[in-house]
Amino acid sequence: MSDRSWDHIQWAFQECLSPSCRVRIGIDELHVACPGCGSLLDVRYDWDRVPVPTRLGEFESRWADRRDPLNVSGVWRFRELLPFAPLESVVTIGEGQTMLRQSRSVERFVGLDEGGLYLQHEGLNPSGSFKDNGMTAAATHAGMVGATLAACASTGNTSASLAIYSSATGVFDCLVFIGSGRIAFGKLSQALDFGAHTLQIEGNFDDALQQVREVCRREKIYLCNSVNPFRLEGQKTIIYRILEGLDWEPPDWIVVPGGNLGNAAAFGKALAELRDLDLIDRVPRLAVINAAGAATLFDLFELHSVRWNDGVTDDATIASYYQAMQEEDRTASTLATAIEINRPVSLKRCLRSLDICDGVVRQVDDAEILDAKAQVGAGGFGCEPASAASVAGARLLRAEGVIAAGDRVVCILTGHQLKDPNTTVAYHSSRPGAVDESLVSRGVEAVRFTNQPSAVANDIDDLLELIRRR
Ligand SMILES: *Cc1c(COP(=O)(O)O)cnc(C)c1O
Ligand SMILES: [Zn+2]
Repeated sequence: MSDRSWDHIQWAFQECLSPSCRVRIGIDELHVACPGCGSLLDVRYDWDRVPVPTRLGEFESRWADRRDPLNVSGVWRFRELLPFAPLESVVTIGEGQTMLRQSRSVERFVGLDEGGLYLQHEGLNPSGSFKDNGMTAAATHAGMVGATLAACASTGNTSASLAIYSSATGVFDCLVFIGSGRIAFGKLSQALDFGAHTLQIEGNFDDALQQVREVCRREKIYLCNSVNPFRLEGQKTIIYRILEGLDWEPPDWIVVPGGNLGNAAAFGKALAELRDLDLIDRVPRLAVINAAGAATLFDLFELHSVRWNDGVTDDATIASYYQAMQEEDRTASTLATAIEINRPVSLKRCLRSLDICDGVVRQVDDAEILDAKAQVGAGGFGCEPASAASVAGARLLRAEGVIAAGDRVVCILTGHQLKDPNTTVAYHSSRPGAVDESLVSRGVEAVRFTNQPSAVANDIDDLLELIRRR
């Protein structure tokens, strides 16, 4: 049987996350939440009917076929593990050709034995962040349901990703909603360049998200935020590529920055499915790293002990936490703008992942994030600030002894170095005793690994002297 002829509709469906509801709806329907109870939705499959390759090398061998776009894509070569689309409908721009690589210097910085640290470089995606893994899946679903207009709220990377799929494929036009102020210029420039209709709302990300959800509901516009369960299906493939890079031998830890928690949600789902399909025999532990200035998950999970609890979450504690946040006018604030989020959308899905993966949550401050980012750059990678939270978090967990020196650890680098050049230049223009004002004003008092440019006269002798003295 040619794999282009599977009858996908039969085995895929959407299901409400809440165990007391569990409503099932078809994958051809368009909802931003469960129509019954308002909870998030999952995409689910009747796996007994899906022809999943039993030999994992089959996925890998597809990569050698450079003529078929479905095999070139690092998302769709795993198509039997996210089988919701007829293959003729797949919208791909070659996303997911990312790599698992090592760096001895970053490994030393984290405190692991030689060979123990892997960095999964998701900044190498077409729009420069992991978001493309999910957007190819959402764009595909949008095409399946006949959407002509798609929208998202974004701290920057989701809008860049939606905008590239809109402009590259012409399947739909797009609207992007961004909060005022904080967006990194690399990201804003992408949305504008790709031709997205960009709406700058007076408010923060959470405000923009609330508005876009309402607009999409009223106007029947296709919503591409990570409430959309199809996006998470695409993001599962980050896990498949990591495992593939490790010859399908699970690592001890996977460490990921936590913002809206879509990635953390997708990772746990991917791992549980692989385990249930007997494709792996052990699930790695998951560490989700918040910025200290945006630590809702850390507070709820580590301080208030909110757990998945088979779907019966302690909603009263969550509600009173948000209530206090509002009354005290506390809003997220971090230089890692991609994770500057007050109310993470996929909170409950993430709690489920933490349960599946025996997970932990930590917070790291902006100075720790920027120092880790400088180490990632010096180690031959380069990432945006939010991404470096994974490396800073791994280092913290190593110092605590939660991660052992001999563990195998994968840190996700979620976004490209060039997304936020202003922060990088401000960091490297600083000196240990004289931190750049733009960082000080955001609470960064000390920096450790700066690399200032040297000023020199336009004179060959001065230049040579400087170079010889270096
Ligand atoms: C979106 C984003 C995050 C946060 O990911 P979530 O899935 O929302 O937790 C982290 N880093 C970068 C670079 C991002 O673009
Ligand atoms: Zn429901």
